Amino acid sequence: TYRWCLTRGEAVRDAQRQPIRMLGSLTDITAHKQAEETSKDLRRHLELQIAEMPFGYIVWNAEFRIASWNPAAERIFGYTAEEAIGQHGSLLLPEALHSQIAEIWNRLLAGDQTAHSVSENLTKDGRHIICQWTNTPLRIGTGPIICAFSMVADITAQKQSEAVLAAVHEQIRQMQKMEALGQLAGGIAHDFNNLLAAILGNAELTHAKLATDHPAQPNLARILEASDRASQLVQQILAFTHQQPAHRTVQSVGPVLVEAGALLRATLPAGIVFTVTVDAATPPVLADASQLHQVLMNLCTNAWHAIGDRPGTIAVTLAPVMCTQPLLGFQTTLPPGRYVHLSVRDTGHGMDPETVQRIFEPFFTTKPVGQGTGLGLSVVYGIVERHDGVLLVESQLGQGTTMHLYFPAVEALAPADAQPVPLEGRGRHLLLLDDEVLLVEVGQAKLEARGYRVTGCTSPTEAVNAVRADPGGFDGVVTDYNMPEQSGLDVARALAQIRADLPVVLVSGYLSPTVQAEALAAGVAALLPKPVKASQLAITLARLFDAPPQAEAATRERP
Ligand code: ADP
Ligand code: MG
Repeated sequence: TYRWCLTRGEAVRDAQRQPIRMLGSLTDITAHKQAEETSKDLRRHLELQIAEMPFGYIVWNAEFRIASWNPAAERIFGYTAEEAIGQHGSLLLPEALHSQIAEIWNRLLAGDQTAHSVSENLTKDGRHIICQWTNTPLRIGTGPIICAFSMVADITAQKQSEAVLAAVHEQIRQMQKMEALGQLAGGIAHDFNNLLAAILGNAELTHAKLATDHPAQPNLARILEASDRASQLVQQILAFTHQQPAHRTVQSVGPVLVEAGALLRATLPAGIVFTVTVDAATPPVLADASQLHQVLMNLCTNAWHAIGDRPGTIAVTLAPVMCTQPLLGFQTTLPPGRYVHLSVRDTGHGMDPETVQRIFEPFFTTKPVGQGTGLGLSVVYGIVERHDGVLLVESQLGQGTTMHLYFPAVEALAPADAQPVPLEGRGRHLLLLDDEVLLVEVGQAKLEARGYRVTGCTSPTEAVNAVRADPGGFDGVVTDYNMPEQSGLDVARALAQIRADLPVVLVSGYLSPTVQAEALAAGVAALLPKPVKASQLAITLARLFDAPPQAEAATRERP
């Protein structure tokens, strides 16, 4: 066999210094040699493993300089081994942490064993990342630190998804809060609505009974005005809490703007110049007037907040536009065509691009707690979307803001209010049903003033019996929806059994999509929000009795 040997020897010489023999030793070192090979193999293997490790592997010398740097570290931080080795640890830290370097290094050294930490780090291309570190200092006995090993992983993505998850949880929490608030507000709004209807109705009656030059007339006018505003407030609450579906009819936007403008002008501080400019040539759109009203209120309130206590201008304009290019919204693109352009411009503080990006998010607000809900623009956005419209924001910090809304114009149809409808009851016999005796009295008086004959009821059974007793004796029924005994829908169904062609108008403080669908199925002729103004009810009744039915059922053609 062959063996590895270590040979040592010396020549032995005679008196003339001639070598006469060799003297020495021969040691068999085969085992030692093999151990050395194994160790070399191990080392090569370890280096390979470190190179292929999914974690960054960094060795620091005693001066916190990089002594070893694997490919994963290069992938995380962007520096090659050549660039990194010899560099100080501050290379990987953002500027803001440089003052803490001594502390970071000491913490690393202080750990006798392995220590874990999470820190913000800086890459070669200037990105801030979040890393998880596992650090092990190396010392021999109780001597000084010789070096330290670190394993590092980039956990930025994980941290970000955690942050997103936390934000979603927060949103859910907020939504639950809003849901609870909504139920509470909805309940109050319902009762409040009935009281309001009584106030509004009695004021209208008194207004009609007194001579036009009676000294109390201006006071009555204020009561009517305030009740109107209160009723709009209730509608806002109901819309916030229920996201009311749009009840769209062919509608001129101009009158809505003028009406809402008058309300706003009364509220805005004197330092704000408020103008409404309507181009008379603006075509009608298919819209829900109360929702358009709400859009304008929300946009102008924001404009007012942006101006604050300083003097400023809010300008509302309405004009037709012909778009030759598709209209680009945030999520939708509308085809070229004729649009109605509504803009609200303010000279307020404006917004930076980051804010603009987020303003439609529900609950996004830059206003202090108690002042902003962050719901205004998300409601606006929802309404514009439900109207097949597009919303664009033009804003610069310090330069003010303009909100542009585009709604497709209804070309084929004439505005509904262009055809005058006769409002006279001409002795038609109506059955009026509401569980609130106050509202029956008010309604009765109002309808009688318009030439109707009215039989008032406060109980559904009583109403159904009245029709059963004389099916041909009535021309129509106006019923409340929410009643303790039976709902207005039950009444409508019962009446349909007796006389299918008897028109029923359903009145409710809030018409949920379910109620609307059920009402449609039950053959209800019209739905009206509560409190109903006499004029509104008269128009609806006149349409039912006198106008051809297609006036209401307008469908829109895309231009
Ligand atoms: P809120 O008014 O309750 O804060 P909004 O959804 O109405 O909620 O608006 C969200 C945010 O958008 C506001 O907090 C504000 O920062 C910004 N914003 C909206 N309209 C304007 C505007 N006209 N000028 C400047 N900032 C605005
Ligand atoms: Mg707002």
